[in-house]
Amino acid sequence: MRIVIKIGTSTLTHKTGHLNIRQVEKLCKVVSDLKNAGHEPVLVSSGAIGMGVGKLSLPGRPSDMPTKQAAAAVGQCELMYIYDKQFSEYNHVVAQILLTGDDLDHEDRRQNFENTLFRLLELGALPIVNENDTIATHEIAVGDNDTLGAIVAACVRADLLVLLSDIDGLYTADPRKDVGAKLIPVVEEVTPEIQALAGGKGSALGTGGMQTKLRAAEIAGAAGVDMIITNGTRPEDLYDIVEGRPVGTLFKGSKNK
Ligand code: GLU
Repeated sequence: MRIVIKIGTSTLTHKTGHLNIRQVEKLCKVVSDLKNAGHEPVLVSSGAIGMGVGKLSLPGRPSDMPTKQAAAAVGQCELMYIYDKQFSEYNHVVAQILLTGDDLDHEDRRQNFENTLFRLLELGALPIVNENDTIATHEIAVGDNDTLGAIVAACVRADLLVLLSDIDGLYTADPRKDVGAKLIPVVEEVTPEIQALAGGKGSALGTGGMQTKLRAAEIAGAAGVDMIITNGTRPEDLYDIVEGRPVGTLFKGSKNK
């Protein structure tokens, strides 16, 4: 199974912006095992800005562009250092790809990106994609990695996109506020009723939230790719996912309706 796994900042770091070692170790172990079993994972990883915040001891996520870009420059190194170290333990080779929305809008650059992705998979490497935050301003950015994950899933003709989040899936109400909120296991289509269930922004260090996830479901769905939202604290769920057991919320892509 070719599976794009989007890892949110809240999965990788503590609220301090420092690495969540236990979580990252678990995740890299499971992804390595999926590769060993013959699956083709591609990671879309956030965390550059969050880790830069931690490493530079900034008081919180910066709001001005130069500090954000500086934090991303520091954090992206740290991120890849950690992935390289973790995946090397299981003899896997990581590859970094940094993109902006502008790159994806240009046919030739998008084609180059796709060629590189396919070649990396043929070579057995593990592509790890992020937005090129050090140069991406609002005008040229994809803006959030849920959307980037969906675009990457479409480019690489993935079977599935998994968004690892700090929430178990889409609920009938905000589970942080409403104890009666119920997890929705399958969404056939992102209707206005489903849109109405998405609240505001997610964590303090990340960018996404349920709205960007629903947008990702629409982009992935239009490309015929199923999408699952599940909780990043349980990377073992990825085993269930590749074996077809229900996990989190499944958004059906147009191929599979
Ligand atoms: N590219 C951003 C980062 O690495 C994350 C964007 C997002 O969280 O959606 O910090």
